[in-house]
Amino acid sequence: MDAIETMTLLYQNGLVGGEWIGADGGETLDVTNPATGETLGTVPAMGASETGRAIAAAEAAFQGWRRRTNAERAGLLMAWYDLMIENAEELALILTLEQGKPLSEARGEIGYGASFVKWFAEEARRIGGGIIPSPTADRRIAVLKEPVGVCGIITPWNFPNAMITRKVAPALAAGCTVVVKPSELTPFSALAMAALAEKAGIPAGVVNVVTGMPAAIGGELTGNAVVRKVSFTGSTRVGALLMEQCAPTIKRLSLELGGNAPFIVFDDADLDKAIEGALISKFRNGGQTCVCANRILVQSGIHDAFVEKLAARVAAMKVGPGTEDGVAIGPMINRAAIDKINRHVDDARSKGAKLATGETALPEGPQYVAPVVLTEATTEMQLAAEETFGPVAPIFRFETEDEAIAIANGTPFGLAAYFFTQDLARSWRVGEALEFGMVGLNTGLISTEVAPFGGVKQSGLGREGAEIGIEEYLETKAFHIGGL
Ligand code: NAD
Repeated sequence: MDAIETMTLLYQNGLVGGEWIGADGGETLDVTNPATGETLGTVPAMGASETGRAIAAAEAAFQGWRRRTNAERAGLLMAWYDLMIENAEELALILTLEQGKPLSEARGEIGYGASFVKWFAEEARRIGGGIIPSPTADRRIAVLKEPVGVCGIITPWNFPNAMITRKVAPALAAGCTVVVKPSELTPFSALAMAALAEKAGIPAGVVNVVTGMPAAIGGELTGNAVVRKVSFTGSTRVGALLMEQCAPTIKRLSLELGGNAPFIVFDDADLDKAIEGALISKFRNGGQTCVCANRILVQSGIHDAFVEKLAARVAAMKVGPGTEDGVAIGPMINRAAIDKINRHVDDARSKGAKLATGETALPEGPQYVAPVVLTEATTEMQLAAEETFGPVAPIFRFETEDEAIAIANGTPFGLAAYFFTQDLARSWRVGEALEFGMVGLNTGLISTEVAPFGGVKQSGLGREGAEIGIEEYLETKAFHIGGL
């Protein structure tokens, strides 16, 4: 607990209209360290009434914020970015303590999260509009880009920092104000970021954070007519529910939902690059990422060599607390996550999958699992149909390119896909045939602020990052000027 006591960014209240407040009734929720099971602290168990006041605060701040020049908003975002970088070490430690990922990965996430703030500070200055040639000589038609308004932002626990900046930075750059509801499992990262936004000089009410009861807060964010947009990252199940709840007030909606990424290795792949790609895409964050390889499809000719190398590397991974040096896999987020992982592995083994590795020694602690490589996986297994969200790499053997594409696309999800080949023609054929919002060829890394991030099919609506990311927070107004 010593590290916690010296922290300056561990805020344990919500932020509404510039005031750090508790829940109306004083109730709190514990926040737990998944590495030890210890309570790190508490946050207010807020509900609909506190959320309603946060929305009112965001509405009150909106006109002032949108009227700032774009350069002023950009300057404040850059001040926020600078503070994130200055405080990166403490932000990373808070993240690891509440979420579990290795500290080196947490540092990476802070850099990734901050990159969105800088990117959208830059983009704020480039929000333009246009002039359309008028059909009659006495008129002019201008196209104005205006902020959508108050936005509700709901984020998951697996990237507690970056999932917030990826939404809040473009919203603020566009001139919107926000009410953020972080995951109840990882609220401290969100509160620390809000404290830095306040320190950076972003005015009261522009960024509000409510913590607590998901359904009550979500009900208010989706039901309140003042909120003009909801941006959600999380499971497809909750995304569908929020979409339904947004329907009566016709809100703009961005949804970044679950995935079921295929990772295809063709016979002509560079084996070492494919192994490195599989390790990063499968085992980063202990396999708890929406873009992580969920089904590893390997062509017959390279299959045995790939399995042997991957199993050797996975068997050598160290499992332990994220704060310990050399740890590759931290604790899973909670018991339910472990139960799902075990269910998937047991189901696969009962249907014929074989364990290539999976007996790594585990430290004491409630939430550790060994990383696993399974061979002889088939499409009948549970792990083929849904994301396992854990360090389990199932290997599916295939013979032909068409077969691999059919298996890869045989899912209602369409977030990320990866494939490894050195054949140019195949690269284009497969890249175009994969029904996913993001495709990595000969790389396991596809997350960067400069490229559009998002999915097709049941993986979501809209894109984050890149130039397109700010459009999600802008309305288009046609301004017809007559009588000239
Ligand atoms: P989740 O859907 O359970 O929770 C996400 C957020 O929604 C949390 O803040 C949670 O408190 C909140 N929530 C839950 N029920 C709610 C309700 N009724 N009303 C309003 N809010 C509610 O997801 P999770 O377990 O936190 O995150 C993991 C999921 O997120 C995985 O499916 C993963 O693939 C997905 N994910 C997607 C992306 C992406 O960019 N597409 C990124 C990260 C995670």
